[in-house]
Amino acid sequence: MHKTLITTLLCLSSFASLADNINNPTIEILATGGTIAGVASSQTSSSYKAGKLTAEQLISSVNGLSNLANIKYEQVYNKDSGDVTLNDWLKLYGEVQKAAENPSINAIVITHGTDTLDETAYFLELTAKTTKPIVLVGAMRPATSMSADGPLNLYNAVAVAANKDSTGRGVMVAMNEKIFDGREVYKTNTTSVDTFEAPNDGPIGTVFMGKVEYKSKTVRPNTVNTPFNLNGVTSLPDVAIIYEHVGVNTEMLDHILDTKNLKGIIIAGVGDGNIPSYEKDFLTKARKKGIVIVRSSHVGSGHVTYDYNNLDTTYGLVSGDDLSPSKARILLMLSLMKTSDIKQIQEYFDKY
Ligand code: ASP
Repeated sequence: MHKTLITTLLCLSSFASLADNINNPTIEILATGGTIAGVASSQTSSSYKAGKLTAEQLISSVNGLSNLANIKYEQVYNKDSGDVTLNDWLKLYGEVQKAAENPSINAIVITHGTDTLDETAYFLELTAKTTKPIVLVGAMRPATSMSADGPLNLYNAVAVAANKDSTGRGVMVAMNEKIFDGREVYKTNTTSVDTFEAPNDGPIGTVFMGKVEYKSKTVRPNTVNTPFNLNGVTSLPDVAIIYEHVGVNTEMLDHILDTKNLKGIIIAGVGDGNIPSYEKDFLTKARKKGIVIVRSSHVGSGHVTYDYNNLDTTYGLVSGDDLSPSKARILLMLSLMKTSDIKQIQEYFDKY
């Protein structure tokens, strides 16, 4: 009797979420590893191996997923996201595109390590050519941990992907009951489960026990509305990041210019994308070599003011808007596949 009541209540709660869903959705889960698939030797150990559980094991550990959608899955790779390479990104892009072009799949969920999840989200937001929902999800605690956050995060991510209001929103991240736009989201805390934030814009919605509520939509063009197309692409241009600080060694900077095939540099500037004046020779030499330089900031939030300290007009630099250095690098890599004209690249940074 007691058991029947619990079953009935569980069914009622899944109907409540299903009412907001695409009709009978099929969702492909692309598993790439991370702590969500991590395994530790005890429930309270802080040392563990990321990327151990398979997609199948991950999915079978989450009760109620099949109430939300028909689930298909693919193991793209299984690694700590700190080890993800540009080739891995191209592989993931290929899998996303395959699922996007498959008429029997309505939406895509990507399980991912949290260390570089925000970068992958923006990479796909600029390149995936689909209006189908793409939702990235991870966990801060390994699957074997006491109060592991992965199962509920994955359940919620599938609910977001299956929701009828999720179409046309580009790439999203669903973590710890919040929904973020893939461009705006950043990991902000090394260990907390509440690590993902969008410092400039805030979350676009919430997801609580599978119940999705949107409160805003990104205004930046993404996915099908960007000019960046990776069809047939086998490598991405080399772009380095320089982190500014007190007393930069300019001799070390000069060595960067010897890097073969270096096409771009992101300056993770201080404050408003500021660059020490004693780096002016370096900037001039780099520009003479045809290297495109984008000014960003390592402050963590806010926009970089165009031509701060006359840097952009004096040296021919691009101002990186409100992108973090690592996200500015992604947009510069994709921009460099189309042009090295800094006026055009500035337009890309103003828009995407
Ligand atoms: N090192 C892990 C990873 O990024 C951390 C995590 O997933 O939370 O794969």
